[in-house]
Amino acid sequence: MFIDILTQHGVDATLAARCEKFWALVKAKNAVMNLTAVTDDDEAALRHFADSLELLKLPEFPGGRVIDVGTGAGFPGVPLALARADMSVTLADSLNKRIAFLEEACAELGLGCECVHGRAEELSLEKSRRDGYDAAVSRAVAQLNVLCELCLPFVKVGGVFLAMKSAESEDEINAAKGAIKKLGGQIERVAEYELGGVVRKVVLVRKHEPTPPAYPRRFAKIQKQPL
Ligand code: SAM
Repeated sequence: MFIDILTQHGVDATLAARCEKFWALVKAKNAVMNLTAVTDDDEAALRHFADSLELLKLPEFPGGRVIDVGTGAGFPGVPLALARADMSVTLADSLNKRIAFLEEACAELGLGCECVHGRAEELSLEKSRRDGYDAAVSRAVAQLNVLCELCLPFVKVGGVFLAMKSAESEDEINAAKGAIKKLGGQIERVAEYELGGVVRKVVLVRKHEPTPPAYPRRFAKIQKQPL
């Protein structure tokens, strides 16, 4: 069923089998540490894998160098890397145990992802990462105004930040417009797709100018005084 659900969503059989292999690793580790609240195979196929792979259907998805901010158990970053060997994928998370798991899993799957432990607002201050990615992607990490301060500094001018959001995110999207402008970006469009009868959104934020050096601020400040 796991594989059937993915093929119903347009995933080819080889990729679906590779996703299933990664899911087996997540499930095994989830028994001993908290990686994901999803435990059912079919639900994982839909909510973790099919959802992550929707990003590749967007014509604006640039490929190239991509960072997944707050990747958790590896979503959406690992399915993207499984699907596109031509991309260079960085998986970043502030929880070291999750990054250690992802390092093991990537080695087992023969994936060349860079697995980085660190807070996004600190990692984007590194010279090699600042304005260094064709795309940043993120799901279920923070409200959009906060998330943009965490993610846009990674993106090259001309690149894109793709924020995966629920259908009920309209107010959140409107409230983030001022923050996005201050960070050098602009919402290009909000894409919608349907997943298991539920509408999901991807907010496409294009970076038009370098993010001013004042951003990102320290996390306490970002949270206390969101842009
Ligand atoms: N993106 C995954 C998904 O959709 O399944 C995981 C979502 S999980 C709810 C949020 C993750 O973001 C956690 O693993 C957490 O450690 C990470 N996180 C939260 N704030 C972060 C930050 N400032 N920098 C890096 N990672 C962060």
